Amino acid sequence: MLQVSNVTKRYAKTLANDAVSLTAESGKITVMLGPNGAGKSTLIKCIAGLLRFEGEVIIGGYGNKTLEAKRLLGYVPEIPAVYDLLTVREHLEFMRRAYRIPLNPEQDQARLERFELWEHKDKVGKELSKGMQQKVSILCALTHDPKLIIFDEPLVGLDPHAIKELKAWFGELRAEGCALLISTHMIESVENLWDTAHILMRGKVAASVDAADQASLAEKFFAITEGA
Ligand code: ADP
Ligand code: MG
Repeated sequence: MLQVSNVTKRYAKTLANDAVSLTAESGKITVMLGPNGAGKSTLIKCIAGLLRFEGEVIIGGYGNKTLEAKRLLGYVPEIPAVYDLLTVREHLEFMRRAYRIPLNPEQDQARLERFELWEHKDKVGKELSKGMQQKVSILCALTHDPKLIIFDEPLVGLDPHAIKELKAWFGELRAEGCALLISTHMIESVENLWDTAHILMRGKVAASVDAADQASLAEKFFAITEGA
């Protein structure tokens, strides 16, 4: 579903992504693991079409800047961006209108209830806590039923209930055939979730491992990041 080929991104003197190639397949959870500053968020912004870069990103067979690719993609940024003056419920309605898909208040309500946001449905963006904003941001990214969903550090700032729900949701999305790409610097947060992991170090993919061949991601991660 996602093919990243030779993506290089430089900010002035910093080489944030150095010829990165990786894939994320449908029906799999692909994890991008790396310490702070490894280049995860930069790569995600390149994939989402928010940055200029060298190289190629293909989503479902389409170049990442095309409308077709954008329809397939859901993106949860590291820092949630909600609309100050839209209510929680209006955020989901807005996403449906933006993607020109039918309104579905029942589904919106069920999803808001799942994240314990229904009781806050009439609060506007600027009245929400950081964690609530993060949950709204996740629901916005899922509204148009994307086939590739990229989560940048999705568990940071969430309460334990939301973490449990989101992890269960990851599994459901995988079962529905979505490709998930999840970036994190916290190995334990994805230890029982991942199918494939790409370990990013200083802008490069240091290793790609498959859960079928490697029982513990932590073991592999430390062997690479500390052993090198
Ligand atoms: P990660 O998400 O893995 O923590 P980032 O992609 O945010 O890493 O950052 C990779 C590198 O690029 C870091 O050295 C960071 O300081 C640098 N960087 C990130 N964003 C910018 C920016 N807007 N301008 C300049 N340098 C940046
Ligand atoms: Mg980051």
